[in-house]
Amino acid sequence: MDKKIAVIAGDGIGPEIVTEAKKILSVIEDKFNHRFEYKEVLMGGISIDVHGVPLTDEALEEAKKSDSVLLGAVGGDVGNSKWYGVEPSLRPEAGLLALRKGLELFANIRPAYLYDELKSACPLRDDIIGDGFDMVIMRELTGGIYFGERNTQEVNGILKATDILTYDEEEIRRIAIRGFDIAMKRKKKVTSVDKANVLDSSRLWRKVVNEVAKDYPNVELEHMLVDNCAMQLVKHPRQFDVILTENMFGDILSDEASMITGSIGMLSSASLGKTKLGLYEPSHGSAPDIAGQNVANPIATILSAAMMLRYSFDLDQEADAIESAVKQVLKEGYRTIDIMSQGCNQVGTKEMGDLIAKRI
Ligand code: NAD
Repeated sequence: MDKKIAVIAGDGIGPEIVTEAKKILSVIEDKFNHRFEYKEVLMGGISIDVHGVPLTDEALEEAKKSDSVLLGAVGGDVGNSKWYGVEPSLRPEAGLLALRKGLELFANIRPAYLYDELKSACPLRDDIIGDGFDMVIMRELTGGIYFGERNTQEVNGILKATDILTYDEEEIRRIAIRGFDIAMKRKKKVTSVDKANVLDSSRLWRKVVNEVAKDYPNVELEHMLVDNCAMQLVKHPRQFDVILTENMFGDILSDEASMITGSIGMLSSASLGKTKLGLYEPSHGSAPDIAGQNVANPIATILSAAMMLRYSFDLDQEADAIESAVKQVLKEGYRTIDIMSQGCNQVGTKEMGDLIAKRI
């Protein structure tokens, strides 16, 4: 298979972790007989330095022309960096928002997987963790209250603020289809999360999700209220496979789910739109405090590359190979500094990439 990948290394640890992800993809090319062609694209602080804006039209066009986009991270030290004394639309992170919008990425997928070897980092009790959990949060990314009309006005001397939460059925249908498609590649269970006891938008959400479910008879569907879901995530996380939810609920629940895995350096993410083109990036930021020191954990980016193979290119076997190699290396006791524990071998960014590459 021949695929064109736009690579946005970005700022801070971005270039280091993306180099390791490309190292892994190169092993996949050799082993499974594929060809990945890379196009380096500037975004974030580095694009500001070169072009004066965080994302140029040309860079966005390059991303659109590719089969998928692999991103490290953008941004600098917010308190100190030269990139922050300007209006928000010219800061590094604005490039990311423009990219997501330009590629019409409406579905955000964040897996929350607890590795056996990292169980001690999980803040939950052993009897709750059991044999671990493995879920994904499928969050709607371009609608809902974050994109509705908002205003603040003074009425009779009292300040009043309004944010409008709107969804139409097409917006709900397209994310629901993505959620069920992903469940079909996993344990075939969808938990749709809403607040249908109170909100009209949630009642529409539930109706449309029920309609979509009819096309997926092999997927078990349950509905859960968001307050209950927040509780169930820490009470019985093993019950979840795919959590399907709207923008704000997903924002909050995905952070909760990632927290119970215990390590930000391990968490990948994907954002998908109407086509197979997706944006794949680690959940963490550019970590300027550790940039250039060969200590960053590259695993979240490597696992994001695995998601790209699975969701954009339908290369499940290849994605499995990467995920198994990561598990193997952790099992053998190799750790970057962020997940280091007693009795393990501490390795740097490059060494972690080499080890995973060898295990594939
Ligand atoms: P961060 O995720 O970059 O770092 C938080 C902490 O986690 C730091 O101590 C860092 O050293 C550590 N860390 C993060 N990733 C790590 C890794 N792979 N290995 C080891 N340790 C890791 O969050 P922050 O400090 O709030 O933000 C730093 C910059 O990143 C800011 O400019 C922010 O705007 C930007 N940011 C970018 C993205 C993105 O590009 N998608 C996301 C979040 C934050």
